[in-house]
Amino acid sequence: MTLASSTLPHAACPLCHTESVGMSDQAFAAGALWRCTTCGQTWTAERLAAVAGYEAWVAARASTAAVQS
Ligand SMILES: [Zn+2]
Repeated sequence: MTLASSTLPHAACPLCHTESVGMSDQAFAAGALWRCTTCGQTWTAERLAAVAGYEAWVAARASTAAVQS
């Protein structure tokens, strides 16, 4: 991970964390599909962003709960 990387989701399977070898952020941004070679899930930039947004929501909830308890 470099500071020069874009704001697009990291191109790795959210389920099993397999790196999307051969898939660039630019390819995802162009609407390309990537099929995880480990778990078989098919990912697009939209799906990766949705998962990333959900994880951020869960993290925000967890931190809020920690403050309140
Ligand atoms: Zn996978």
